[in-house]
Amino acid sequence: MTDEKVVAYIKKCLDAGRMAEAIDTSKVTGAPLSKEELNGYIRKYLENGWMQKAIDGAKAAGIELSKDVLSGYVNKYLENEKIYSAVDASRIIGMPLPKEKIAIIGKECLRKGKITSALEAYKIIKEKPPEEELIICGNICFKNGLLSDGLEAYKLANKTPPEDELVICGNMCFNIGQITPGLDAYKLANKTPVKEILRICGEACLLEKRTDDARKAFVAAQKVEEMNSSKTIQVREISLEELKNSKIDISSKGQKVCSDCGNRTDIKERYFEVSRCPETKEDEEELDKLMKIQHGIENFYVELDVLGNGRGLINSSICGNCASKDVVLISGDDMVYIEIKAGKK
Ligand SMILES: [Zn+2]
Repeated sequence: MTDEKVVAYIKKCLDAGRMAEAIDTSKVTGAPLSKEELNGYIRKYLENGWMQKAIDGAKAAGIELSKDVLSGYVNKYLENEKIYSAVDASRIIGMPLPKEKIAIIGKECLRKGKITSALEAYKIIKEKPPEEELIICGNICFKNGLLSDGLEAYKLANKTPPEDELVICGNMCFNIGQITPGLDAYKLANKTPVKEILRICGEACLLEKRTDDARKAFVAAQKVEEMNSSKTIQVREISLEELKNSKIDISSKGQKVCSDCGNRTDIKERYFEVSRCPETKEDEEELDKLMKIQHGIENFYVELDVLGNGRGLINSSICGNCASKDVVLISGDDMVYIEIKAGKK
């Protein structure tokens, strides 16, 4: 081996925690390996939580590691929530772990949304995490966009995650380009995300070159858009012919009369198909606006759901004699017309 290769090999052994092998190699080849360097590696092993490797290395290097130093590291692992390292190290040096301390750490982990570490801690002390702490943990996980961790916390608490928290989680997921958990969170909340946030998610995925996820996000955005457009109200004027063809019998609706001049014979009627019937006040306002802007009509009646598929029939009447818009049915008992806007000016 060349000197260079020997040095590289020794470094490799040291990095992997095989200090005895590194020391032997140095002795055989005469490659330098200082005590300071070995000391530095032992500290590094301890920082990493490699207690056994540190003890073995120190023995091979002839460096003394006091029990105080070692137990100090066990406490350090606990403080840094390295539960596994703490348990392992405590076993190696025969130092029992303080139960109260682990309970506190478990609770702190829950408060930080670190469900896995928290469960490790509670497992060691053979206790169940408190329900209310689990819910706090779950909500923190949701806020961080960690859906499965949040769901696990709620499951352990035997509670169903609230819709609002799921939506918060979904939005966070979308913001960080996590399309699948984002969609899952919304699905669990029985809600539909807005298309804008889905596009943001798609862009985030593209930035990270995750094209499949990006496609999934953009497809979801497209679907939301289509769903919304089928929801907006559309109005189309239909002729008398078309009305007759769609089996709507206008004659049965009763005869009309102008309230202003009493004219019954010359009533100008227009009919419109409305894509869906107004359900809310906003819908009614939208329909009013559409009728006025598109057709110049301010007074009309809507007959709900008569054209099938939720479509309604709009009827607007004007007196051919005096141009009054106050045209009413002669027979008052024919209540199929539902007035949504006052006829009188
Ligand atoms: Zn009239």
